[in-house]
Amino acid sequence: MERVIGIDLGTTNSCVAIMEGDAPVVISNRGGYKTTPSMVAVTEAGKRLVGHIAKRQAITNSENTVYAAKRLIGRKWSSPQVKNSVMTSSYTIVEGPHGDVRIQLRDKTYSVPEVSSMVLQEMKVIAEDYLGEEVSKAVVTVPAYFNDNQRQATKDAGAIAGLEVIRIINEPTAASLAYGFGKSVDKTVAVYDLGGGTFDVSVLEIGAHGVFKVIATTGDTFLGGEDFDARVIDWLVQGFKDEHDIDLRQDRMALQRLRDAAEKAKCELSQVKSTEINLPFIISTGRNEALHLQRALTREVLEQLTEDLVERTIEICRQALADARLDVDEVEDVVLVGGMTRMPAVHRAVSDYFQREPNKGVHPDEVVALGAAIQGAALVEDRHEMILLDVTPHALGIMTFGSYFEELIPQNTTVPTSRTKIFTTSRDDQTAVKILVMQGESKQADENELLGEFILTGLRRAPKGHVEIEVTFEINTDGIVSVQAKDLDTLQEQSIQVTATSGLTQDELRDMIESAKDYMVERRVDEAFEEAKQEAETLVAEIERLFPQVEKIVATSDFGRDAIDKAKGVLKDTEAASRAKNATELKAQIEVLSRTLRMFKGVVSRTQ
Ligand code: AMP
Repeated sequence: MERVIGIDLGTTNSCVAIMEGDAPVVISNRGGYKTTPSMVAVTEAGKRLVGHIAKRQAITNSENTVYAAKRLIGRKWSSPQVKNSVMTSSYTIVEGPHGDVRIQLRDKTYSVPEVSSMVLQEMKVIAEDYLGEEVSKAVVTVPAYFNDNQRQATKDAGAIAGLEVIRIINEPTAASLAYGFGKSVDKTVAVYDLGGGTFDVSVLEIGAHGVFKVIATTGDTFLGGEDFDARVIDWLVQGFKDEHDIDLRQDRMALQRLRDAAEKAKCELSQVKSTEINLPFIISTGRNEALHLQRALTREVLEQLTEDLVERTIEICRQALADARLDVDEVEDVVLVGGMTRMPAVHRAVSDYFQREPNKGVHPDEVVALGAAIQGAALVEDRHEMILLDVTPHALGIMTFGSYFEELIPQNTTVPTSRTKIFTTSRDDQTAVKILVMQGESKQADENELLGEFILTGLRRAPKGHVEIEVTFEINTDGIVSVQAKDLDTLQEQSIQVTATSGLTQDELRDMIESAKDYMVERRVDEAFEEAKQEAETLVAEIERLFPQVEKIVATSDFGRDAIDKAKGVLKDTEAASRAKNATELKAQIEVLSRTLRMFKGVVSRTQ
């Protein structure tokens, strides 16, 4: 049976897992790390870098290094969140052709799903290297709070990476799946997930019979570790300004170094009480003088700088429990997810609020990918003993007269579900009505996300309010929304399946899939070449080491001199193949090199 990988596509880091027998395991990348930075860069030579290597060069190539693309995925150019990222990112974000968002890297612009696909492709390769076979199916997780467009954009990213995303599941649901897997628990659990860019909290009921029911989920897609880092950066920038009257924000390179140092200090302060931030030659003055930044940051100050952020997460927990209609003491366990939950102040605030120590059995960085792998295996093996009952993260409804949002399916309703409501016309002799399908919590329609629209025509002419239209919303298990409108007099009806959009057209998507495939072929060829080159270099070094010895022994015979000349020729040919980057030729040379080395070793051993 085909293996399905589970991918936690994080804002800051990503993680891939798979079921091995009866247990899910996280797969380490080539560097031995279990998580890979969700970073993508293009070098001056046009080479694409993903993960740790992208992160390592971020300081010197900040304009062409993308981080936190997840904050932009599936969003419209006009959204306030995008505006915010445009102002604060070190890379250039531009408007796409469909009101979507594109990222400029060197001389090319990339859609956000394309950038995310590069991270997914990396996770796919990590899994394939480990399994020794191709992988084409994945379960990918998203924050519970993602709307349909963000989910669709994530699916598109998977498609570009050559992965069929067989299910998108919510991160907290995945976490609870990993938490409850293999245990016979019957509990109400809260999952508190504070990652690099997003926060969400979910309340779930885990039944002893493998039922995972989400009761409530809520969050903020713009609250995460980066906001904590930003507070430290502000503090450093302000301090520097007070001392030198220079704004470090004006210098992209300095800003990137500050960002790195701020994150590092924040993480260190989870272990120690005080840390030193040291950035030599951070900027030069107008008089060509180099200035250094050196400051001590204590845990206490960090906690003061970020107190309100922590409090905001607790406020959202309060909201989630209110939505779930539960008192805090009815929550029987708390699962922590996301790197930020290692911060002592976060841990303390969660313990204080829930009046209990959070669960220690799950790893905050790995639990989501593990849950995705569990779900992936369950889907292909058709295992019915595990049932996920998810909820709609946002209310669904339509826009009514006066630009109001009329809700049909409330937030946190278990899916699949369907709801019907009757509306009336708002004008006399109105013969058509436009149905705008929206998602969100605001009473003002334009503050919510437009998912789709259609027109119901052929209405009976009548005074306003006299024509009744029945609108039905349906959401299936995959979260796909369909809407039907029916004129109750003429029984005329219209319906649409709301296909969320990632901002890409089908043609664009096809092109991106093709170029990702080409890239993969190129990459595999490059890797094959690098591997051959390394092997050849080892052989060459060994031959060169033995050369003087062998030359001395065999130089007295013609046959020997001939062998030496041949060996020199082999080394020359190898160098030429290596210079020409010809993997096939290099592999052929490896054969010859091995024979030569055997011969050399034979000569040496016979004379010893
Ligand atoms: P995630 O998205 O779950 O990978 O979380 C990444 C976020 O967790 C980033 O903002 C990191 O800076 C933060 N983080 C990772 N380790 C720690 C730590 N030891 N203490 C505080 N924050 C951390």
